[in-house]
Amino acid sequence: MAHSKTEAIVLNCFDYSESSQIVHLLSPTLGKVHVIAKGIKRNKSYGVFDLFTHGSVVLLSRKQGGEDDLKILVELSVISSFQKIRTRSDRIHAALHALEITSSCAQEANPEPELFDLLLRLLTSLGNLPIGQLRVTMLLYSLRFLEVSGFAPNWSGCFRCDRPLKVCTGTLRFLPGSGGFACSSCGAPDDSLFVRVQTKTIELLAELSGPSHSKPKSVTLPERPLREMEQITLLALQASLDRQLRVAPILNRYLRKSDHK
Ligand SMILES: [Zn+2]
Repeated sequence: MAHSKTEAIVLNCFDYSESSQIVHLLSPTLGKVHVIAKGIKRNKSYGVFDLFTHGSVVLLSRKQGGEDDLKILVELSVISSFQKIRTRSDRIHAALHALEITSSCAQEANPEPELFDLLLRLLTSLGNLPIGQLRVTMLLYSLRFLEVSGFAPNWSGCFRCDRPLKVCTGTLRFLPGSGGFACSSCGAPDDSLFVRVQTKTIELLAELSGPSHSKPKSVTLPERPLREMEQITLLALQASLDRQLRVAPILNRYLRKSDHK
C-alpha cells in the first residue's frame, strides 16, 4: 500500500453508495486520478467538497496484479471551494466548461502541472471578476488551454501554402478539421466545415495567444472579432478533443447576457 499527498481540483464526482462517492481529481503531479471517497457524505468535517473545489488530499493506492486499483481518499483539506463562483450561474457554467475540457484532455498517471495551474488561475479569477470581463477571460483561458495542451492552430500562416495570413486581403477561413487557417488564394474544399474570419481577428488571435496574456486582465475587444475568436476557439477545442462540448452552448447563452449586467 502506498500513500501519496497532492493538491487537487475536483473535476467530477458522483454517488457510489449512500455515504460514498467516486471523485475524479486533477493533480499537478498525478494527472487525472479516480478515487473513492468513503463516508464523504456523512463526514461534515470535509466541508464543501464538490465540483471545482481545490484541496489537499492524501490518497491510498493498493497494488493489484501490478495495476493500481481505484485509489482511496483518506484525508482531505479544502483550500478553497470558490464560494463566489457558486453565487452566479454564468460563472458556474464558465467553471464547468473549464472542468469539461480539462477532464477531456488530462491523462491518468501523467503529471499535468500546466493544466492544473491554468485551471486554478481561472477559478481564482472567476470569483473576483470585474463586471464585463467574463467573455474576455474565457477567451484568454481557451487560447491558453490550446497552447498548453499542444492543440493550438497556427495563428500566423496558411496551413496549405504557409503564406503569412496578415498580408492576405481577401476572406480567410478557419478549418477546424485541418487545424488551421486557409489564405484567400487556397480557399477551402467544398465539403469542409469552415468559418469566415476577418484579417483583424487573426491579428488579435496571434497577439492574445502569447503567454503574456495568460492572466486574465482588463481587456476590451470589439464585438465582431470577439465573436469570431470565440467561435474559432470553440471549434478548435472540439476538433482537438474530438468531442462535442456539452457545457459550451449553455455557457455561450450566459456570455451573451452576462457582460451587460
Ligand atoms: Zn494558402
